[in-house]
Parts: sequence; structure tokens; C-alpha cells
Amino acid sequence: MAKFLRDRAAELADAAGASKFWRHPVVPTNGGEHLLGTCRMGDDPASSVVDRYHRSHDVPNLFICDGSSMVTSGRGQPTMTIMALAFRAAAHIKAAADSNQI
Ligand SMILES: Cc1cc2nc3c(=O)[nH]c(=O)nc-3n(C[C@H](O)[C@H](O)[C@H](O)COP(=O)(O)OP(=O)(O)OC[C@H]3O[C@@H](n4cnc5c(N)ncnc54)[C@H](O)[C@@H]3O)c2cc1C
Repeated sequence: MAKFLRDRAAELADAAGASKFWRHPVVPTNGGEHLLGTCRMGDDPASSVVDRYHRSHDVPNLFICDGSSMVTSGRGQPTMTIMALAFRAAAHIKAAADSNQI
């Protein structure tokens, strides 16, 4: 996967007109993985998968509460943000269930 992504990065750099690009070898690593992306969060169903409460735009009774809603790791370490968003989603799910909106 790292080799695949390195090659895609090379294509991006080339398309952007980079004059220098370093293609470092892929070596074993023992940590640092941040598992994010694939279910972008957003208000627009055309460009996102879940809304601000992690609720799927396409499947109303589906909540995806994990790191997949973040397509980048702006803060660096993502887990506290994943947890904060999950707490917010849980509060919203409870409120919606209490008012029979789920
Ligand atoms: C070695 C390492 C070190 C890290 N250090 C840090 C750090 O210091 N700080 C930080 O913020 N982040 C750190 N991260 C990143 C962070 O741990 C992840 O980004 C975060 O845990 C992702 O949360 P998640 O809920 O999206 O997925 P996960 O935590 O991977 O949770 C997914 C869960 O779904 C379960 N599951 C999978 N498939 C199924 C299935 N079919 N049915 C039922 N359950 C299923 C799995 O068993 C798992 O419990 C680290 C990651 C690694 C690997």
C-alpha cells in the first residue's frame, strides 16, 4: 500500500509541475498509522457520505462513528477528535430517539 501511495504521490507531484521528487524506499515501520477517510463528513450529500452527526446521507438509520469521516488529519493525532465527534453523535442519537425522530 505504501508503494502504491508513493507512486500516486509521484504522479501528483509530476502533474503539479514539481521539478524535484524524492522516491524514498518503503521500509518496515512499528507504529504511527492513522486510519482515516473514506466516509467524508459534510452537509452536501453530493460530496459527502455522513452528516455532522455521522448519519449516512443515503441510509438514514446508519451512523458511522469512526475516523472515516475525517479525510485529513489536520490536528495530527486523530483519536481525541474521533471520540469527541462520537460523543456528539451519541447525544444526537439519544435526543432523536427520545423524540421519536429515529
Ligand atoms: C500503532 C498505532 C499507534 C497509534 N497511536 C496513536 C496516538 O498516539 N494518538 C492518536 O490519536 N492516534 C493514534 N493511532 C491512530 C488511532 O489509533 C486510529 O486512527 C483510531 O483508533 C481509529 O479509530 P476508528 O474508530 O476509526 O477505528 P478502530 O479503532 O480501528 O476501530 C474499528 C473497530 O471495528 C472493529 N471491526 C472491524 N471490522 C468489524 C466487523 N466486520 N464487525 C464488527 N467490528 C469490526 C475492530 O475490531 C475495531 O474494534 C495509532 C494507530 C496505530 C495503529
